[in-house]
Amino acid sequence: MWIGSNPSRLYCDAAFGYVEYRANIKAAQAIANGGAWRLEATDKAPTKSVRVVVIGESARKDYLSAYGYPRNTTPFLQSANGVFVDGFTTSAGYTIKSLSSILIKSENGVLDYGRNVVSLANAAGYETFWLSTQTYTDFKHIVARLAFQANRSSFFRPRSLEFVSDDMNLLAELDEAIALDTGEKPKLIFMHIMGSHPKSCKRLANSDPRPFNLPYGEDHNCYLATIAKLDRFIGEIVKRLNAAETDWSILYFSDHGLGHSGAKNDAQMRHNERVKQAYEVPLFALDSAATKRVLIKRRLNASRFIDLFAAWIGARGEGIDSRYAIEDFPNEFDPIVSGENIDDLADDPALY
Ligand SMILES: [Zn+2]
Repeated sequence: MWIGSNPSRLYCDAAFGYVEYRANIKAAQAIANGGAWRLEATDKAPTKSVRVVVIGESARKDYLSAYGYPRNTTPFLQSANGVFVDGFTTSAGYTIKSLSSILIKSENGVLDYGRNVVSLANAAGYETFWLSTQTYTDFKHIVARLAFQANRSSFFRPRSLEFVSDDMNLLAELDEAIALDTGEKPKLIFMHIMGSHPKSCKRLANSDPRPFNLPYGEDHNCYLATIAKLDRFIGEIVKRLNAAETDWSILYFSDHGLGHSGAKNDAQMRHNERVKQAYEVPLFALDSAATKRVLIKRRLNASRFIDLFAAWIGARGEGIDSRYAIEDFPNEFDPIVSGENIDDLADDPALY
């Protein structure tokens, strides 16, 4: 079912012919060429260990009860052991621009496409997977470039943008990835989800609970329900990794936040780069070996994620600042986001 091995759901889609797929993957690989990682050392991950990176969508930190929201949106995460960073700040309020600065190394402000989280994990000896419910409508899409660098990738090519897949569908693919025999190689599985993308009611399947009935309108209540769905999604991943009886770690962040628009009794959660909460997102790591819960309240720029990620997978080398790890990192912060100081942007607090 993976691209590169058996027919995948991507190129099985009638809207997307095999020839076109081959042409595009070639283009994607050509675009991906750039600097290569030169690693000095890799702390070898235990054989059969599994690391999962969940790339979230449109989740504001202040709507997770794990970060203090007064409604119980994230009961699982509130009691989970691990490291929670309160201060991770994206550089943009939209997916592509924001993920580019998080997932790809930049040198003097110029993205070096070849040096990204996927190529780093490949270089460090992991078998890499990319599972996604996001729609990459264009193969020049930066995330599609990354997806194709994984050893195995699988994502939807919907017939229309109105059709989106349920994030929970990815769990069956996660099961397959966990079960796959990769010999001695540890696994690193990226999961790019639809999360809380605007028009959040569409992110909920009929079977998803809608437990919130606050007086700020349907879109807002659906948004809260998508945060609760994220909490269940992470809980399901943990359940599966525990069942696999292997060492595991999960790293989660959201690509950006959102702002409120419209009347207060009909609040719409929308992209909005003019409010500071659009940049303030959750970042946390859960781990099978974690025995306590740690909250680090310190600001961290998105562009430092690649250093953090390198430490998380045990890779060191040229272009990696080894002072950064999710457990501890320097208190240095560049407040400029989308060309402005984040502290000068409007405050748009969570509604509860
Ligand atoms: Zn996004």
